[in-house]
Amino acid sequence: MAEQAAKPSSQKEPIKASELDPKWKYELQKLHGAEGLMRCFQCGTCTSDCPVARFTDNYRPRTLIHMAQLGLKDRVLKSDTLWLCSACFTCTDRCPQDVEVASVIRVFRNQAAESGCVPQVFRDQAQSLIETGYAFKIPELRLKKRESQGLPPLPKGNPESVRKVLKGVKFFEPKQEPIPNEQQ
Ligand code: SF4
Ligand code: SF4
Repeated sequence: MAEQAAKPSSQKEPIKASELDPKWKYELQKLHGAEGLMRCFQCGTCTSDCPVARFTDNYRPRTLIHMAQLGLKDRVLKSDTLWLCSACFTCTDRCPQDVEVASVIRVFRNQAAESGCVPQVFRDQAQSLIETGYAFKIPELRLKKRESQGLPPLPKGNPESVRKVLKGVKFFEPKQEPIPNEQQ
């Protein structure tokens, strides 16, 4: 018998009527990129062509769109699988219904970020960006090793200009609580 694909925890629990938000899909359709959400007829082309879905059973763009159509707002926004999308736009190119799937995922992410549902790894990257101008802090050991090998110092980041550009972006505001990581 074929092994059943593992589902993220946000898709395992039975759906309760109380968690459905029937108005959400109408709000989403007003946002740039998500206008075609309701055209999705669940053919699965986006998922079958998605390079990320090829490597994990947890990420299914088709399922996220279906959940949004049903009004499962909290489950979509709190799902960390949302953050696995690499924004390659293959799904958008292949959707027979002209749903801008990658943009719909971006809209979900924007809403997730606004409600504070951002995985810790992205918070850490944001923090590093603000502090150093780079998304990843380069360990001191690595810098010393470069020096010992006679390599030139790495160019300095410009955190001041990063902070200027990002001023007012909610993602970078400090009050958000991290969401638990479903993949752990
Ligand atoms: S390819 Fe388009 S129509 Fe098919 S499941 Fe994905 S979003 Fe829906
Ligand atoms: S944009 Fe995201 S959802 Fe679409 S195919 Fe690429 S990784 Fe998959």
